Amino acid sequence: MNFEFTDEQKLFAESVRRFAQQHLEEGALKRAHDPRFPFDVAKLMSQQGLMGITIAEADGGQGGSLMDAVIAIEQIAAVCPRSSDVVQFGSFGPIRTFSEYGTPAQKERWLPDLLGGKAVMSLGMTEPDAGSAATDLRTTAKPDGSHYILNGTKVFSTFSPDAAIFLIYVRFGPGVGGIGSVIVERDTPGFQIGPPSSFMSGEEWCELHFDNCRIPAENVLLGPGGFKKQMSGFNVERIGNTARALAFGRYAFERAREHVATREQFGRPLCEFQGLQWKFAEMAIKLESAQLLLYRAAVNADRGFPSAYETAVAKAACNTVGFEVAHESVQAMGATGYSRESLVEYCMRRCRGWMIAGGSVEILKNRIAEHIFDRRFDQRPRHAAAAE
Ligand SMILES: Cc1cc2nc3c(=O)[nH]c(=O)nc-3n(C[C@H](O)[C@H](O)[C@H](O)COP(=O)(O)OP(=O)(O)OC[C@H]3O[C@@H](n4cnc5c(N)ncnc54)[C@H](O)[C@@H]3O)c2cc1C
Repeated sequence: MNFEFTDEQKLFAESVRRFAQQHLEEGALKRAHDPRFPFDVAKLMSQQGLMGITIAEADGGQGGSLMDAVIAIEQIAAVCPRSSDVVQFGSFGPIRTFSEYGTPAQKERWLPDLLGGKAVMSLGMTEPDAGSAATDLRTTAKPDGSHYILNGTKVFSTFSPDAAIFLIYVRFGPGVGGIGSVIVERDTPGFQIGPPSSFMSGEEWCELHFDNCRIPAENVLLGPGGFKKQMSGFNVERIGNTARALAFGRYAFERAREHVATREQFGRPLCEFQGLQWKFAEMAIKLESAQLLLYRAAVNADRGFPSAYETAVAKAACNTVGFEVAHESVQAMGATGYSRESLVEYCMRRCRGWMIAGGSVEILKNRIAEHIFDRRFDQRPRHAAAAE
């Protein structure tokens, strides 16, 4: 076992950090407070080979590992937290499921723009009555000759105000076995995108309505029985949320560390007060231990897909630690940390969201408990579970 990066990983990390310092440091604050997808950053990253890190070279990606993509998130977020969302989009998000399971024709049609930073894809899984219980989704896809007709509503989809393409989880039939997914283009008749609403983080999302929306059968990504594959792909997305939460916690920690090392009160630097020293020691212990769980899940990924258990442990740890550290960093910086000019409060707000998004901390703990006891714990009332 070796806790050091390889020489290749060190070189990659250094080159990504240099790129970020040259191109992304300036404007980091403005980007954080802009709810729109930063297409300028996506284009720059595409030229730099930072889009599609986890996607096969044959599909126009970089053919790298999940760990390479985690390193990229860490290095970008250390300079411009918001820009790491582009790495998430290009290497971890629905694009990863799409590139794994898409047909050659689908990939040829959509991947060049997605990897070129010209278009963004949004994931529509959650519905008004299907949040944590994702398999309760009701959006239907009914066959109609060479087409499918979609009906239903999706909520909370990240990047939905800007997305050109949507990966939508749908129900082809009853039960978990009836779930699959389709690709819907923004301007498809019968697909209405509501006005943007804001999360606490400032990110925006729109309600997505499908009202007899007709899509060609070629747009089916995964047919009935595709749910398991969708969740394997979703574990990659979770690792991206895990990596960003930890990286945002670390960003806040660094700003707070610099602040208490120089800011003086009562005639001495704040870091000379033991109450603050212990806060920082505790934050370092949390960050270092969560980091190992993240790296374990990424390094052990099988053909780029991490195990559900290792992902759950890493995400629950990093989401919680990222938020706690960012929260303590705000405190250690006083009003400066609480101000919108510091980016530390921004990191705290973003980290709070990842405790809910993409498998809440509670749902991940349910998954971990199933691993511990080596049995499934059905969350539904007994009569409902029996009826499935
Ligand atoms: C920042 C952000 C980005 C998001 N992006 C997307 C996106 O791109 N696409 C998309 O489809 N969705 C997205 N979502 C939605 C997200 O997937 C859901 O919010 C999540 O699945 C939880 O569903 P819910 O909000 O309906 O909460 P609910 O499911 O109603 O849960 C409410 C609370 O109860 C807890 N809870 C529920 N069931 C259990 C249980 N069995 N045991 C213990 N506790 C339980 C939950 O953990 C939570 O704390 C995003 C959400 C956020 C916050």
